[in-house]
Amino acid sequence: MSEPTLFDISVRGRHGVSLPALDVPETALPSALLRGDDLNLPEVSELQAVRHFVNLSQLNYAIDKGFYPLGSCTMKYNPKINEDVARLAGFSSLHPLTDELGSQGALAVMYQLQTWLAEISGFSGVSLAPAAGAHGELAGVLMIRAYHLARGETRRTKILIPNSAHGTNPATVTMAGYEVVELPSDSNGDVDLEALRAACDDTVAGMMITLPNTLGLFERRISDVIRAVHACGGLMYMDGANMNALMGIVKPGELGFDVMHYNLHKTFSTPHGGGGPGCGAVGVNDKLKPYLPGPVVQIVEEPNGEEEAPLYGLRMPEKSIGRMKAFHGNFGMHSRAYTYIRMNGGQGIKDISRYAVLNANYIRARLHETYKVPYDRICAHEFVLEGHFEGVDSVHALDISKRLMDYGLHPPTNYFPLIVPEALLIEPTETEDKATLDNFIDVMKKIAEEAHTNPELLTEAPHITPVRRLDEVRAAKQLVLCCQPLPAQASGSRFGED
Ligand SMILES: *Cc1c(COP(=O)(O)O)cnc(C)c1O
Repeated sequence: MSEPTLFDISVRGRHGVSLPALDVPETALPSALLRGDDLNLPEVSELQAVRHFVNLSQLNYAIDKGFYPLGSCTMKYNPKINEDVARLAGFSSLHPLTDELGSQGALAVMYQLQTWLAEISGFSGVSLAPAAGAHGELAGVLMIRAYHLARGETRRTKILIPNSAHGTNPATVTMAGYEVVELPSDSNGDVDLEALRAACDDTVAGMMITLPNTLGLFERRISDVIRAVHACGGLMYMDGANMNALMGIVKPGELGFDVMHYNLHKTFSTPHGGGGPGCGAVGVNDKLKPYLPGPVVQIVEEPNGEEEAPLYGLRMPEKSIGRMKAFHGNFGMHSRAYTYIRMNGGQGIKDISRYAVLNANYIRARLHETYKVPYDRICAHEFVLEGHFEGVDSVHALDISKRLMDYGLHPPTNYFPLIVPEALLIEPTETEDKATLDNFIDVMKKIAEEAHTNPELLTEAPHITPVRRLDEVRAAKQLVLCCQPLPAQASGSRFGED
């Protein structure tokens, strides 16, 4: 297939902009600064440019178009009021070098958000500095490292990670200079406690655990796990990217975790996908509070009376691991997450988790007779099923995903977690209604039937999308992001089509 590019419809002399009248004195530019050759830009009218980009945007799939059960990613609906708030001129036009007195409104939003996140998770300190979940993980592990080094505990060189952890966890640990010790899961999908106890010694700096784990399961003996690691002097890191199942229900700080990161761009509905700016805020208990990455917002002067606001300031914590990025984190994410929490309120935050868990369990319970569900017990916000059928060797998880696209649905996460063969990780989120879930279930059952009666429908899918089967790696790594004239014979591969 091939959409015409702007170059294809370019007509010499046509334009889509009207420039304002010159309002500065006209002067001749030095000839060295003048352009000698043609810019080679397409020449189109405003309407042609608008239609071109709107048509392109409609080739994409998005949560605003349909159901998006991409496990682990929490593709919930992003309320539009978040966008209105983020675009308020006082926020969006604020220069990051504005002094504290000139940015009290923004600092108040950050302070309140820090406070709410701390309350939701039962921690005593929060920093909004990290720009993504994995960035928050790095901050967390560097804090664990700083804590042990400050106590002279240089023997501690290992971090324990269950094999049901998110892939970023071992990557983070390695980047922070630690050795990864992988722990097996037992047949119920929980951490193998015997293996954990055997691995705990005075060379362990801590344990990093994804909770709920990537199977969508809540670790039932989490208190035993935490006790075992603390007993050998290690600290407990919780990957809290999936707080969507827990917030309002259980506080990781009260369970005994020392540090955790949140993904504001998942749980708290700030937009994500495509690698855009995110926020991987970190929460810590008193032990790690002095090490938080900075700056964090603090009250530097209490209010004089009830009517007055406190004075906020940005401060580096006493033994801070330092800055994670320039300025103060991604403020656009802070103002959106603030709006989201404020719009939902305490009860609303709790309901989000309850409905996210209910929706996942509803789908699991209605699909487990059609598909193999390897850990078939009450799940949290997501669950895994196996995307293949006995006696139909040609059909794999990927084929089911591609066929879903023909029905106008976004596929679930494929081949993750790694410990389940042909894994499809399904996370419906709380923002979908029963009719949407029922439609997804019906389609999944229909696809299972097709796999038996006409497997080519799956193995050759998708049939009706703008592009067919893409090279999974090149489609993401070698994007063609700008409109460019292409030799005629190559135009079919503009989207990395195979
Ligand atoms: C998404 C996710 C991460 C990584 O978050 P990024 O913002 O993509 O870096 C880490 N852990 C878990 C469990 C996740 O779901």
